[in-house]
Amino acid sequence: MSGAPRLKVAVLGATGIVGQRLVALLERHPWFEPVILAASARSAGRPYGEAVHWSLETPMPRFAQTAPVAPAGKPCEVDVAFSALEAEAAREIEPLWAAAGVPVVSNAGAFRMEQNVPLLVPEVNAGHLELVRGSGEGFVVTNPNCATTGLVLALAPLHRAFGVERVTVTTLQAISGAGYPGVAAMDILGNVLPGIPGEEAKLEREAAKILGKVEHGAVKPAPITVSAQTFRVPVAEGHLLSLSVRLGRRTTVAEARDVLEVFGRSALPHLPSSPARCLRLFEGESAPQPRRHVGLGSGMTVSIGRLRPCPVQDLRLVALVHNTLRGAAGGALLNAELLAAEGLLRRAPPRPLESSSGGAT
Ligand code: NAP
Repeated sequence: MSGAPRLKVAVLGATGIVGQRLVALLERHPWFEPVILAASARSAGRPYGEAVHWSLETPMPRFAQTAPVAPAGKPCEVDVAFSALEAEAAREIEPLWAAAGVPVVSNAGAFRMEQNVPLLVPEVNAGHLELVRGSGEGFVVTNPNCATTGLVLALAPLHRAFGVERVTVTTLQAISGAGYPGVAAMDILGNVLPGIPGEEAKLEREAAKILGKVEHGAVKPAPITVSAQTFRVPVAEGHLLSLSVRLGRRTTVAEARDVLEVFGRSALPHLPSSPARCLRLFEGESAPQPRRHVGLGSGMTVSIGRLRPCPVQDLRLVALVHNTLRGAAGGALLNAELLAAEGLLRRAPPRPLESSSGGAT
């Protein structure tokens, strides 16, 4: 890294499950330095270490323990604001930061479907950044719903090669996806809860936007119909998705596997949070599994398995995404790195990387 200072960032919603992931990931980030940890009036003014219910497997970073929590509704001068705010709060607070000239990189659902807001997965639709180029310093970019992130990383190569027309997706989603305190233990222990509020609509509309094309300053959604059923399951981290896909051009499993394999090896080595591979394919009947595979690529690699012909549509497969890393905090970090590398932040990052620092594949 050069001697240039890191870019200063705020984390809004720093006390939540996703906010904690961001705080942990930012501790040693080569480009970004967390200088503001912000949350609701319930937490503001208290030391972060007291306000937060720390629930990660790694210890709370030292810098965060005594940092005073700032009120999220008061914008400060930083290079980027990461938002891990609860959706209603995000709708009110994110525009305040954007209006103050701060690029907001959001995990929240509030603005994902707005015309001028990119809904980004860098390996899939980095070109959608066109929507904010030249729009001034303050804007909002978002990452998709956590399950949608797994869905589009699996669908993107199939869509490019064969044209995806219809998708039936059933999700088995981890409890960390509901934030903290989330689902009551009495409801979820030894149980499965059908129907996660709001989640099916997100899966059904976000994938088409991400796989769509920018035309005349707006995204023209891809003509893909998605039918989603969601379930909350007693798993800590990792959303499993069972997919059945109808393609515009018929193919073989071998050809589909090749396409997924080649795309999976694509990485963004100039971005520090890019894994060495965005997809990892498994053979056999019993992979992927949340407990065994969710941490691949430091939680940034989506695992794919059980790729087979489908007697109803064309192909079926299973995908696994780490919901709070690739599906939330890690995805947001990758988006902010893309903004920095594309010159869309006020200052340049210390020095772009030449090779990937991604973890295991
Ligand atoms: P969470 O654990 O409930 O945390 C919510 C955060 O928002 C807390 O920091 C909370 O601060 C803050 N907040 C709530 N109301 C506020 C208000 N009125 N003003 C200012 N701050 C407020 O939720 P989460 O799971 O981390 O999710 C955060 C966001 O990411 C949500 O929009 C969620 O939909 C999205 N997301 C979550 C996941 C996931 O897997 N969990 C994945 C993708 C996207 P206090 O602690 O002070 O209350």
